Amino acid sequence: MSSKDAGDIAMVTKAYEFTETAHKDQKRYSGDPYFVHTAEVGFLLATAGVDAQAVAAGLLHDTIEDAGVTPKAIEELCGKEVLKLVQGVTKLGALRYRGMERHTESLRKLFAATAQDIRVLIIKLMDRLHNARTLEHVPRDDKRKRIALETLEIYAPIADRLGMSVAKQELEDAAFPHAYPKEYEKTREAFTERKSENEKRLEKTEHDLKREFAEANLRNFRTEARLKGFYSLYKKLERKKWDFGTIYDMRALRVIFPTVAECYTALGIIHGHWRPVPGKIKDYIAFPKPNGYQSIHTTIYTGDGGALEIQLRTEDMHKEALYGIASHLAYKESQNNPTQTKSGGLEWMRQFLPRIGKAKDVPAPATVQSGKRSVAVPSWVKELAHAQHEPEKSDEYMDTLKSDFFSHRVFVFTPKGDVIDLPLAATPIDFAYAIHSDLGNKMSGALVNGKMVSLDTALRNGDMVEVITKPSAHPTRKWHDIAKTSMAKKHIRAALAAMKKT
Ligand code: MN
Repeated sequence: MSSKDAGDIAMVTKAYEFTETAHKDQKRYSGDPYFVHTAEVGFLLATAGVDAQAVAAGLLHDTIEDAGVTPKAIEELCGKEVLKLVQGVTKLGALRYRGMERHTESLRKLFAATAQDIRVLIIKLMDRLHNARTLEHVPRDDKRKRIALETLEIYAPIADRLGMSVAKQELEDAAFPHAYPKEYEKTREAFTERKSENEKRLEKTEHDLKREFAEANLRNFRTEARLKGFYSLYKKLERKKWDFGTIYDMRALRVIFPTVAECYTALGIIHGHWRPVPGKIKDYIAFPKPNGYQSIHTTIYTGDGGALEIQLRTEDMHKEALYGIASHLAYKESQNNPTQTKSGGLEWMRQFLPRIGKAKDVPAPATVQSGKRSVAVPSWVKELAHAQHEPEKSDEYMDTLKSDFFSHRVFVFTPKGDVIDLPLAATPIDFAYAIHSDLGNKMSGALVNGKMVSLDTALRNGDMVEVITKPSAHPTRKWHDIAKTSMAKKHIRAALAAMKKT
């Protein structure tokens, strides 16, 4: 064990014991000791693979607000950095969802606070995750519902934005029954009705698929069944007017390979053996989602009147898909010592949880590994990944990452409170085209926070932007120079070309 390991374990041990004592007279609504909550938050953080400071801060996150502990005591225990994290989370404690206006206000606060340190947000997400899992114990209906709505409308989308799909799905599925009980029941019934049919289809396809792969000499892979979350299933059913015939991904089959090349080979084999459903082939390896997600998705007719979605990805993509940004903040020792990656966070955390001591079946902790990425990876994800290829620079990089994550992007709001995510120094022109090309093409001016601004104004985090349109307005060559996003530039070029013709 390195001295850094020993130091980390000592710090987390201190935080663990301290939080147990600090909360000893408090209970959760469930009747459990309050300490169960803080220990679980620490455990979730360790599972996601964040560093020891963040785990310690997770353990201590409620001590200032709920146990009357002084900031000085925390600083003496675990140092300035951990104190800053705890204070960051404490400040966020006041986030409350009360309709759309408040929603916007909450998001503003959230981004302002996390601009300091991305770990604050990850701790807050795990705090909320445990609270959402224990929602049934909250005595008042209105309070329970409010927390559930907040979880669905603020926290789950943030987890999604950070690429933390495990947290996103868990947050949604924990909150869904309390936010919308009737809709939840309806979804559950519909799901149960089709459960065994779906299971059988998946099993049979998996069996046939393994045979086809073996015949093609493709042997190095593992499979897993992926179950769509109830909330996400519900939203899809709503969009599809509850027509189950068009929902193919209630269960999906995931195949995980060592290399990208094998993913494409597998796609060829699959399409050679089964007929793919037209329009359902998505290559997120060549074209990753904005949050960095990579995989190939295809849906095939299984020959029994149904269809099944298959997802192909590498191990690296899999870890990234589960833990997103948290996997980039992984326990530093692991990064420099590949033989040790499996123990990152989780294993050494287990020893701190004798009381809870559940031998939980958690997914393998996120680890940091190098891997080739396609050129289309969004720049901020690429930058994060880049740090992994230069281990000697990673300490320095991690520091920048923690403070700068949100400074690579600006989050601005529409008058209705929707969040638009833009690159740094984006202008009202980029904003308008990010919403719709028609809006961009007819823009004559813009209000930022209620004030008229020039179109080359750089937008800042939390700005509320309103686009003013005029039927006679049209893009100009100058707009093209001002715009920062390739999407805006593309639409402007198209509009300019169309104008030339007429
Ligand atoms: Mn808490």
